[in-house]
Amino acid sequence: MKDNCFNEFDPNALNVEVALIKILGSVASKKDYELIPLKKAYGRVLAKNIKSHQNIPNYKNSAMDGYAVNIENINDTKHIFKCVGESFAGHPFEKSVNVNEAVKVMTGGMVPKKCNAVVMKELVKNEDDKIIINSKIFIDQNIRFPGEDIKKNEIVLLKGKQIDEIDMGILASLGKVDVLVYSKPIVGFLSTGDELVSVNKPLKKSQVYDSNRYLLLGLLQKYPIKIKDYGVVKDKMLLIEKKLSLASNECDVLLTTGGVSVGDADFVKNALDKLGRINFWKIAVKPGRPLAFGKIKKCLFFGLPGNPVSVVVTFNLFVNAAIRKLTGQKYSPSLSVTARLESEIKKRKGRKEYKRGILSIKNGKLTVKSSGAQGSNILSSLKDANSYIELTENIKEIKKGEDVKVIPFVLTSEHYE
Ligand code: AMP
Ligand code: MG
Repeated sequence: MKDNCFNEFDPNALNVEVALIKILGSVASKKDYELIPLKKAYGRVLAKNIKSHQNIPNYKNSAMDGYAVNIENINDTKHIFKCVGESFAGHPFEKSVNVNEAVKVMTGGMVPKKCNAVVMKELVKNEDDKIIINSKIFIDQNIRFPGEDIKKNEIVLLKGKQIDEIDMGILASLGKVDVLVYSKPIVGFLSTGDELVSVNKPLKKSQVYDSNRYLLLGLLQKYPIKIKDYGVVKDKMLLIEKKLSLASNECDVLLTTGGVSVGDADFVKNALDKLGRINFWKIAVKPGRPLAFGKIKKCLFFGLPGNPVSVVVTFNLFVNAAIRKLTGQKYSPSLSVTARLESEIKKRKGRKEYKRGILSIKNGKLTVKSSGAQGSNILSSLKDANSYIELTENIKEIKKGEDVKVIPFVLTSEHYE
């Protein structure tokens, strides 16, 4: 694969793991929380373990439409029961059911006390007030028992869990009206660059549309945070300083893109140095080497690179970890799989690389190939990718047919050939 960038080894660059430890070490654990209605809780992070105060289900009920029976002779293969009533979901039959008696029951309907099996409707013949069943009946068949889903006093959801759609259902089934969640931190972002133009204006020569702010807007959506867009700032030290100073007063995290390298128009690192503290600014990762991380007063600061793919990769690797911790969630490393490489990949030693890959299953085996040109400006090959191929610092080349580590994005059947 052609690579137009010359990448020399930089001994001062931190490796990804060390950078992550430094980042996580600078983020204070989340403490402030609020009580909100369950209806508003989707995507928020639980600030307290959720304990069930009841069994779910909390009464013995039927898994089928059919008949709840009080059976004595389970060895018989023909049974006749007298039908003595009905039990619908929400409308129980509360009288006693004697041996060889049955109650018509709907799915979810309460199974009367002495009934010890439910027979599905399809296996039952009705004759006057009797039902006839010509098959074996097993004790407890088709009965759902109290607590078989969730037991009383069980911890159902752990503090730090981001509430998803399943949790919404669980919380509702526990009868929770309100939920205690961590409050939302404020994450702000801005772009730097004299060449940047907003999407509603025509482009002149030597200008590009400011796509990074939209990338970040998209990347930030899944977090329980308040997002603040600070627009574009020109490549002028004073202007950058002013904007960083203002935004860092209003945010818990501030992200910038561009202007963080060593070019003549790169002022972000110096501005951070002047207003706050640089923790590190070089990482041995490609794409994404310059990344200024530090703090301006209490605000965490990430000066991300300018190239769009570098923005996404460094966001996924580093900003994600910080925001997760700041929102009260655990940092969890990405799931990875091993896949066979479909064609050779070359790289230089010294940096960990994240190539954009297409992971698929061929003849029952996971295989991966590059999704296209790998320049850090080529966003279209990230669009076509469904995974990163992670190549560690020491690797120089990987040959076709060798195993590689692959970090899948969310996989759908669309990605399988
Ligand atoms: P820089 O790090 O500022 O030197 O930018 C590196 C590359 O990323 C240059 O080609 C920039 O034009 C491009 N770039 C920087 N910021 C943005 C942005 N907000 N949207 C699109 N491209 C950008
Ligand atoms: Mg720039």
